Amino acid sequence: MNPFWSRHVGTLTPYVPGEQPRIEQLIKLNTNENPYPPSPRVIAAITAQAGDGLRLYPDPQSSALKQALSSYYGVAPGEVFVGNGSDEVLAHAFHAFFVQDTPILMPTVSYSFYQVYCRLYGIEAVQVALDEAMRIDPDRYRRPCGGVVIANPNAPTGLALPLEEVERIVRAQPDRVVLVDEAYVDFGAETAISLVRAYPNLLVVQTFSKSRALAGLRVGFAIGQPHLIEGLERVKDSFNSYPLGRIEIAGAVAAIEDEDYFQRRRAQVIATREQLAGQLRRLRFEVLPSAANFLFVRHPEHRAADLAQALRERAILVRHFKSPEIETYLRISIGTDDECARLAAVLAAIIEG
Ligand code: PMP
Repeated sequence: MNPFWSRHVGTLTPYVPGEQPRIEQLIKLNTNENPYPPSPRVIAAITAQAGDGLRLYPDPQSSALKQALSSYYGVAPGEVFVGNGSDEVLAHAFHAFFVQDTPILMPTVSYSFYQVYCRLYGIEAVQVALDEAMRIDPDRYRRPCGGVVIANPNAPTGLALPLEEVERIVRAQPDRVVLVDEAYVDFGAETAISLVRAYPNLLVVQTFSKSRALAGLRVGFAIGQPHLIEGLERVKDSFNSYPLGRIEIAGAVAAIEDEDYFQRRRAQVIATREQLAGQLRRLRFEVLPSAANFLFVRHPEHRAADLAQALRERAILVRHFKSPEIETYLRISIGTDDECARLAAVLAAIIEG
């Protein structure tokens, strides 16, 4: 143990981010980034900020962005919280609502950062099994708990719960916060934002990293009733009053304003996903129906770890998780049509030998 660390730091097991190699000409389908550039309006807005104004602190409330999000989603500005990527928004939500004596509920297969936050803040978690089709079963979230976190669509399965089933979970826990992480919702699931007015315990978290192609900008947000947003603001202002810089605020506002670009790119990713799913099924992969910008697949004859390694040797990166529930699967992010065609051709060569 490092003598300069606190006792607590030594017990942490941090999140290990997906690989971000600096090799060119690699087909990178491992961390669910958008294969397309952000809107040109985002680039123009960011460029316009890159001047003398950077001497000055940004607006600590990020009011322009809250305003843009509130009109886009039809909620009040006081029902919007923004942060440095949805990772930070989720961390603040865990801190604000889940630090307490009772364990929270989360699916066994989910975004692995949730368990990291639990360890960071000393929150106990009960892992709730998925059903046999790898789906989240709302009936398993009825038991007493300190709160619930789910991703919808779930990660890394890509499976989406219909809105009524999300609502059943929210309704089953009226005295606990239910956190719905919608990082991938724009690729084919229904957002729970429409339920926020009806449920004081529902907090919906989204990101600009995926459907808006801004993973490098680091902007995420939450929508919930004002008492929940107030809790998040308290944690934020106890930690970093300026999580978003001028560049982040301006870029994110411009992304929200360019609806046409957003819709075109999102539709393109969905079309490519469906095409790739068909190609993989023809290669006898089992492909879970995806509502996200990735596919979760496995092959009856080829081990996932071997396929990931064979792809890596041919300069294609996909994600393989070692946890026992999902180690037979590969998660493949949707790239451009050309990238996915290359992936399918390489997989065909490996499988048909
Ligand atoms: N939630 C889920 C389910 C994710 O997969 C990710 C991306 N790894 C995030 C949240 C965090 O995204 P970001 O911090 O880039 O907004």
